[in-house]
Amino acid sequence: MSEAEYLTVQQALTAVLAGVAVLPAERVPLLDALSRVLAQNVVAQVSLPPFANSSMDGYALLAADLANASPATPATLRVIGDVAAGAVLDVAVERGTAVRIMTGAPLPPGADAVVPVEDTNEAWRNKERPLPVQIQVNRSVNSGDYIRHPGEDIEAGQTILEMGHILRPQEVGVLASLGISEVAVIRRPRVAILATGDELLEIDQPLQPGKIRNSNGFTQAAQVTALGAVPIGLGIAGDTETAVRQKLQEGLEAQADLFISSAGVSVGAYDVVKAVLEQEGNVGFWRVRMRPGKPLAYGSYHGVPYLGLPGNPVSAMVSFERFARAAILKMSGKAPLDRPTVQATIREEIHSDGRESYLRAVVTRSGSGYEATQTGDQGSHIMTSLVRANALLIVPEGVYTVVPGSQLTAWMLDWPEAIF
Ligand code: AMP
Ligand code: MG
Repeated sequence: MSEAEYLTVQQALTAVLAGVAVLPAERVPLLDALSRVLAQNVVAQVSLPPFANSSMDGYALLAADLANASPATPATLRVIGDVAAGAVLDVAVERGTAVRIMTGAPLPPGADAVVPVEDTNEAWRNKERPLPVQIQVNRSVNSGDYIRHPGEDIEAGQTILEMGHILRPQEVGVLASLGISEVAVIRRPRVAILATGDELLEIDQPLQPGKIRNSNGFTQAAQVTALGAVPIGLGIAGDTETAVRQKLQEGLEAQADLFISSAGVSVGAYDVVKAVLEQEGNVGFWRVRMRPGKPLAYGSYHGVPYLGLPGNPVSAMVSFERFARAAILKMSGKAPLDRPTVQATIREEIHSDGRESYLRAVVTRSGSGYEATQTGDQGSHIMTSLVRANALLIVPEGVYTVVPGSQLTAWMLDWPEAIF
């Protein structure tokens, strides 16, 4: 990529994504697999339920005994046993008899149905009551009623989850029910984060004249964490080659899968990062037809992909959203790489400079659609414009004026339940 080449957002994204690959798999304890991508098919070794069991507290019996049972003509059955969940009863149910059974208890041999306790004369009695000698049942049932059949949920030998599936709490539950305590999932990307600039102070240092605290390092670590990846904080490198090289070396030792730096990529400012990457990797400096976030560096350091974001906090966050986020998701084996979008109606006139613009906005529901309002000053140093926003409103390339009533695509940073 030649220096100062102008790219569209899509071209830059395509190039960034071409430089990263899905990471290898690792076996992890089940709970560590939450929100990660399954790297194996899971075949059930057992059926679920594993045995026929009752879906109700009631009586296990033969449906044929209740053929004529009704409230007016109840059937009387002799109670020959009791089976609780977790127990096994080997007494066989025969014509004219019943076994008291609790939800989840295995169906005793001989029985072919369960009648709920509510449909017997024992309905109002609690479970602690001694076993009745006989019961009266005031309804009929079909063979199989109120029985959970073995394999009804999962059959042994069945592929229950496929490679590529993202594990949610319900998948974790299914795996636990199958006794699978460890699974192969795609490794979490390790992302080394570097802030560059002589003006930067650590978070706990008192402010000094001309200096500001490193906020980008924290924003980016939070963005990385929110994606389920692992941030490796490299801290601050001053504007010298030695400082930058030393920090990147630390990232290599921490086995980073991706470097993300901020600042030092605008014209006249990038020489330090550029020099280091040119000596020990490769780098292209791009102008992206995007606002904010025009400058972007992309390359590699000792073979590890490297993404250099702009320094201004809003530009850095928007560039991360657009490029780093997609790269990290791809490395994690995930898709889609974009945020969800909605079409939102704007109520105020918007002016742009012809670049693809990402305006901080609040999207709210309005009738059957959505409405968007910008969150005030759009300066790329106004971090609170992002704090107030739940979306980035995209003004397409080549558009200079958007009139009230038009619709724009809103890139949803959050998807607030209160609104949607
Ligand atoms: P630069 O890309 O080096 O020209 O920086 C652009 C702007 O971003 C300057 O105002 C920097 O002070 C600011 N900046 C750079 N790095 C950070 C950072 N880590 N945290 C907060 N602001 C930063
Ligand atoms: Mg700088």
